Amino acid sequence: MIRRPDPVPLRPAGLAAALAQGSRRALARAITLAESTRPEHRALVEQALRLAPPPAVPAVRVAVSGPPGAGKSTFIEALGCTVRAAGRRPAVLAVDPSSPEGGGAILGDKTRMDRLAADPGAFVRPSPSALATGGMSPGTGAAVRLCEAAGFDVILVETVGVGQGETAAAELADLFILLLSPGAGDELQGLKRGIVELADMVVINKADGDMAPLARRMAADYAGALRLLGATRPGGELPPPVMTCSAWAGDGVEAVWRVLETRHRELAAGKGLPARRAARAARGLWRETVEELFRGLQADAGLRRRFRRLEKLLRAGRLDSTAAARNLARHIMKAGGPGRGLS
Ligand code: GDP
Repeated sequence: MIRRPDPVPLRPAGLAAALAQGSRRALARAITLAESTRPEHRALVEQALRLAPPPAVPAVRVAVSGPPGAGKSTFIEALGCTVRAAGRRPAVLAVDPSSPEGGGAILGDKTRMDRLAADPGAFVRPSPSALATGGMSPGTGAAVRLCEAAGFDVILVETVGVGQGETAAAELADLFILLLSPGAGDELQGLKRGIVELADMVVINKADGDMAPLARRMAADYAGALRLLGATRPGGELPPPVMTCSAWAGDGVEAVWRVLETRHRELAAGKGLPARRAARAARGLWRETVEELFRGLQADAGLRRRFRRLEKLLRAGRLDSTAAARNLARHIMKAGGPGRGLS
């Protein structure tokens, strides 16, 4: 079969223009480039983003995190449809249900967001490598900005609640939702893991059928605990609201959207949004630096060879792992970083 030439432009100006025209093909391709391990691909995306005009109104960037099975995908699709009905254009960066990393193999019935994906006014992008970096794909920050450049004004990012993922998601979102469902183990687990500083809203999902009373009780417990801990919120902010919904039946999702929209409008009107985005991005600088270094090191052929030599010695019991790791780290620092002949 002869493949037709790809019409998506691969120069920054062309890519920026295609995005400005709202080309979904260009957007999909650009996100692939942003997720690429090749630095020149990511550089192309950054150049295109610099050329793209800023959106007239800043998009509402929302991250949804929570344990597997809480109903994140179901909730995001319901929220996306609500947003659509309100006349806005949602883009979803989601965990790929078909990828074992995305939990699809464990939760066979995980939603593919078919309703939203079929809507020409929405964009759904599954990300296969979501768990590789703790719930987020490395290009997600750029992907959010690409969606904005293509004219999407509500960006919904799904992450699996596994430590790093929550932190990274909170860094790139204006509003961070912690989604939980009743009966998922330790009821106040999220509190211990520092969500007080991260979450802008806690949503207890599955408030339907037998689980409705449980969900309401859980919401009351969370609201009480968050009020008690309120004093520890940075900048004297009020504790995050706690809401219940049934993503599956669609109940309560519109109310969640109204709270998000109002909060975002307040942030944007008070000029607090750029400062908030900058502060959150700054918080992620170390993590991003380490990720960038890690990608560079993994791509270095010389270093990979040295790694394999040490690995062999390790397997043969002639070296311990701490000594091997120290050897590699010393070597990298002496050579001045990746791409400088690390063999
Ligand atoms: P995720 O792993 O957090 O993305 O969760 P999914 O969206 O894949 O949902 C996990 C399971 O919970 C699926 O079987 C859903 O049908 C179910 N589920 C999701 N939302 C609700 C809800 O509001 N009520 C009920 N009863 N089940 C739900």
